[in-house]
Amino acid sequence: MKKRKRILFGLGLALTISSVVVVLWVLAKGYKEPSYTTHTRPMMGTIVIIKAKARPEHIQRTFRVMEKIKSLMSKYEPQSEISTLNTKGKTKVSSELKEVITRATYFSGLTNGAFDITVGPLVRFWQKMEAKQEIPTQQQLNRVLRVVGYKNIKVSGNTVILEKKGMMLDAGGIAKGYAVDKAIQALRNKGVKNALVDAGGDIYCLGEGPHGKWRVGIQHPRDMEKIMDTIEVKNKGVATSGDYRRHYVIKGKKFGHIINPATGWTVQNTPSSVTIIAPDATSADALATGVFVLGPQEGMKLINSLPDVEGMIISQDMKMLTSLGWDRFEVEKG
Ligand code: AMP
Ligand code: MG
Repeated sequence: MKKRKRILFGLGLALTISSVVVVLWVLAKGYKEPSYTTHTRPMMGTIVIIKAKARPEHIQRTFRVMEKIKSLMSKYEPQSEISTLNTKGKTKVSSELKEVITRATYFSGLTNGAFDITVGPLVRFWQKMEAKQEIPTQQQLNRVLRVVGYKNIKVSGNTVILEKKGMMLDAGGIAKGYAVDKAIQALRNKGVKNALVDAGGDIYCLGEGPHGKWRVGIQHPRDMEKIMDTIEVKNKGVATSGDYRRHYVIKGKKFGHIINPATGWTVQNTPSSVTIIAPDATSADALATGVFVLGPQEGMKLINSLPDVEGMIISQDMKMLTSLGWDRFEVEKG
């Protein structure tokens, strides 16, 4: 009798264990971890690329988050929040625009005004000059410069005030990086641990790629097919500002799209491209633009003074100048 009970008990136990194993096996089969997929969408004057280990609905939601940032900060949409602020000079803004303005102002201080979100009137002026095919004079630029200067932005609660009539914000040097950071945040909120978001050279690398750390190639400024350097990063923002992307062409002469807020002229001759590695894409984006204005010497001094920031400056004669800790990220040259 005792023996029979023991056999029955053993049988019961075995059945219970095996059913648990079966349930676990079914659960494991039912849960399919997504593999890496690549998605692209034209946005913000470029092609946004998301490569992630994420479910398709999470990718679509991430694009929507980026579209929202774009529609708040686009200078080309007359109804955007930034356009409304530029027209009215004072308005309540979203937490996103407030954050971009606050961070832009921080980077203006850091770069001694080389990065300046109030370059709007200069950008518009250069566009006008291109349309008229007239090379501006210093006198004309000086007139425009009267309404340029980040110190004349006031933020009070959620209200932003542009203190000089005619002031205009242009978030072109920071908004793409910010949109990338927001995209990464949206993916993280859905439990995504591995993703790369690239908005035309403003990148964030979350976790790892299919073959280990994410690899980012730095383009040769004069030959798009060539990679000058390759870096490996994890949980970092990477941004490149170059003189080869966009220009104003006036009377056959090329003028880069980054403007020196100290002179009103577009940055000419130095450098050819600037790549920044930073803890987030917003910082990398703003610093790449700011360092581009500062030039190789002052720019590299600034990079080396910042903890957690590394950079590479390619000069007009294609010489690579790198910050003290750059080689920690470098994979291969050439
Ligand atoms: P990026 O491609 O990030 O270097 O940004 C360049 C864009 O930023 C330009 O097309 C302008 O819209 C804007 N911009 C130009 N000069 C400056 C500057 N000195 N500071 C901040 N933004 C600028
Ligand atoms: Mg930038």
